[in-house]
Formats: sequence, structure tokens, C-alpha cells
Amino acid sequence: MNSSLYSDYVKLLKQAVSIKSISTDKSFSADIAKMSKWCESTMKEIGFKTKTFKEYGNPIVFGHLVVNASLPTVLHYGHYDVQPADKSEGWDTHPFKVKENPKTLVGRGVVDNKGQFLIYLSAIASLTKEKKLKYNVKFIIEGDEETGSGRMQDFIAENKELVKADFALISDGEQLNDQPTIDVSYRGSMNATVTVYGPITELHSGLYGGLVQNPINVLSSLVYKLANEYGDTLLFKKGVSVVSEKDEKKMAGNSYNRELFTKITGQKPRFKYNHEIFNYLGFESTIQITSIIGGYSGEGYKNAVPNKASVKINVRYNPDLEPEKVASEFTKYIKQNFLSGVKFDIKIDDNSAGVSLESSNAVFEKASTLLADIYQKPVMYNYCGATLPVAADLKSQLGIPTVFVGLANEDCNMHGANENLNIGIAKKGLEFVSEFLSK
Ligand SMILES: [Zn+2]
Repeated sequence: MNSSLYSDYVKLLKQAVSIKSISTDKSFSADIAKMSKWCESTMKEIGFKTKTFKEYGNPIVFGHLVVNASLPTVLHYGHYDVQPADKSEGWDTHPFKVKENPKTLVGRGVVDNKGQFLIYLSAIASLTKEKKLKYNVKFIIEGDEETGSGRMQDFIAENKELVKADFALISDGEQLNDQPTIDVSYRGSMNATVTVYGPITELHSGLYGGLVQNPINVLSSLVYKLANEYGDTLLFKKGVSVVSEKDEKKMAGNSYNRELFTKITGQKPRFKYNHEIFNYLGFESTIQITSIIGGYSGEGYKNAVPNKASVKINVRYNPDLEPEKVASEFTKYIKQNFLSGVKFDIKIDDNSAGVSLESSNAVFEKASTLLADIYQKPVMYNYCGATLPVAADLKSQLGIPTVFVGLANEDCNMHGANENLNIGIAKKGLEFVSEFLSK
């Protein structure tokens, strides 16, 4: 590995993190534009021919680097948008300024996903200089991943020839159990807001309480029926994928890092056996109430029946369930479970399919062998509980072998305060990508 590779990488990372490319809040659209331009010029400097697409939501930057037409082409993907970050959430340092600690780099996006796609761009830049790159490279960097990559499917479908490659190698996840990790499936994800309307205006709780429907009471009883305290739900039937006996043995052999789980969450794992954890995260559907909004929330009390209340819900579902079916079952269930005469509406957002990926191909083998070699540890095959919308889009539109390698540490706290990338793991990631693309 080139000696300046890591320092070059950090230089790029610092620039990228300093741009507040938050896609979940429209007021940052100028930063989104700035960030897409930064991606384009960074790629150009490496030698990519680039094109920016503005008709699919936030700009999608596409780059093509041809080394030699006779070589195979690899497709990489990353996203330059990030989650919001504010010091009040508990950050020890400025979230948009990379802090270099002895063991970690801290900042919004150092893992998700600026820090991971820049591992690829940095390695490619270095290999290009040394004339060691053994692949032609196509690179898609989008800016709507954190809001569900709503138009990515259209982009790929309408630009099939342009993005076509022999295989895809992508990193947007974490390692499990301190071992190199390849994700073999992702759950689907859907957001929903359910709003219940009560009396036409707020009313005195003594004079009207008990005579009118209280929207918070109505909503609470719905929430109670939707899922238990963990989010277990009877709403969606399991799809066909379950961890096979062979996989289950393989997974049970990998001890889930229970101490790390407790360190991260402050709770004990609810399941006794490791394979139960993997099975749950990989294949069970879960309903997570992410917010309840309604009534008076200031100091003291306001004894009034509110006129409106809503709840925000994130559903993670089995990789084999169809998004449309999940949305319709969810909607039907809520309609059935409201008292008659309640006024309400349901808004479905960001519904992204899950996916199970093929693992018997040469790319998968090559990645597995290299990872085990570089990390000197066996590879974990992870049935990932999270969702990576592009994974399903690539499978359905291009059908090429696709391998997802998580290059971040498990305690990276992506989406949370003090998002961090372990420096040792970052260096190994740079080594992995350099080795992969030069062999
Ligand atoms: Zn994310």
C-alpha cells in the first residue's frame, strides 16, 4: 500500500465532511449542490469522465474511468448526503469538522457514507498514479440515500447502458464482531406518519373530557396493538428466506459481540443465542415508533383535550416482502383497528425494498479471500437488519454480481452523535480496496 494513501484519504475526508450535505432537511440544498460539485471535481482530478444528473432529485454524480477497454469494469456506489448533526445531540466536537483522535476520526459522514466511498476514490487515485489499476471503473455517487433513494431505481433503469458493469463492489455498512463482514441481505424499510384528528379545537379537559375522542388516547391504543416493547409485530408474515441450517451453524459459530452490544446500547441482548439475534435482524419485521407528536409539551400541565396527534413509524421488513404489499397491509391494519368514526390519515414515505444477494460467484469469493487475508480473521456473512435501497435496485435492474463489504467499525454510531471511523479499520479498508483493484 502506498505510504501517503492514508494521509491523502484524510485530506479528502476533511474537505467532504466540512460540507453540510444534509438531505433530510431542505434548507441545506445549497450544501447538497456544493457537495455534488465537490464529488465531480474530485473524480475529475483522478481521471474520471463525469456527468451530473439533476433530474432525479438531488444531483447524482456519475464517473467513468477507462484504463483499457479489454479490462473488466467494476461499478462502485456511494452517497454524499448525510443525516443531520447538532452539538446539542451530544457531540464532543464540531460534527462538520473532522476530529483526529489517536484511534478514531470523528465527524458526520466519516462512516455513512463519505468516509467509505472516499476509501474507494483514494485507492483508485493512488493505483491510477502507479498504473496498477486492473479494472475500468464506474462510480455512482448519489445525494438522496438518507431519504430512501426514491429515484435511484429510475436513474439505473433509464441509464442501463451507462452504468452497466461486470460486477459491483460497494461499501456502506459496518463490520460485525470486529471481523471483516460481507452483507448478504438487507431488510426493506418504510416510513409512515399516522395522524388522528379529535375535536375541531382544543377543549377544556374537565368540561369535555370523556365526551369527545381524545386523539392521543386513540393513537396510544393503536400503537399498543401495532407492536410490543421491542417492536415485534404480527402484522407482516415472514417471507421465504430464513437462515438455512448450514448458515445458522456458521453464524452460531461466530459469537455475537454481546459486550459491545451492551456498551453501545446500555442494555443486555434480549436473545439467549446468537443465531436468534441474526435471524431477528435479518428476517423478522419490526415496527419502531420513532416519534409521538401531540398535546402540550411545555413546563407544567395544560389540561386540555388536544385536537390532533400523530405518530411517526419506521417499519423494517423481511427482504422477500414486496414494498407495495407491506404498505397496503399496514394501511389496512390501521383502518381496521381504529374505532369507527375516528378521523385520521396515513402517509407512507420512503418505502424501499429489501434484497437477498447471490453469494456463489467469483467476485464474492475474491472479496472473501482477500478480507480474511488482510484482517487475519474469518469473514462474517451478515444478514443485515438495515436497508440499502440501491442494493435492490442494482439486483432488479442490472442483475450483476454485487458484493457489499462493510468497512466501518461496529461502534461507529452512524446517524448518532460522535459518528466515528476507527483508523486501523480505515487503513485496512484502503488496503482491501487497493489489493482488490490491482489484482
Ligand atoms: Zn445513513
